[in-house]
Amino acid sequence: MTTKEAIVVRKRSNPYVIGPRPVHKHRCPDGDHEWQCNSPYCNHMEIECPEHGGPEPVIEGYEPWRGR
Ligand SMILES: [Zn+2]
Ligand SMILES: [Zn+2]
Repeated sequence: MTTKEAIVVRKRSNPYVIGPRPVHKHRCPDGDHEWQCNSPYCNHMEIECPEHGGPEPVIEGYEPWRGR
């Protein structure tokens, strides 16, 4: 099994897709794979996934700047 396949298997549940918002695909330039999320705050599609050192997507309703 290649590293790429291992990542796909591990991420099959799409942990960054939360709620009913439309899903978009990011391309991780480090792992050379696609990953999905549905954060409304993403500006760049070519960004490392959190497993490869990228920032965690901000989920609608869980914004860190909210609720202070
Ligand atoms: Zn995103
Ligand atoms: Zn990655």
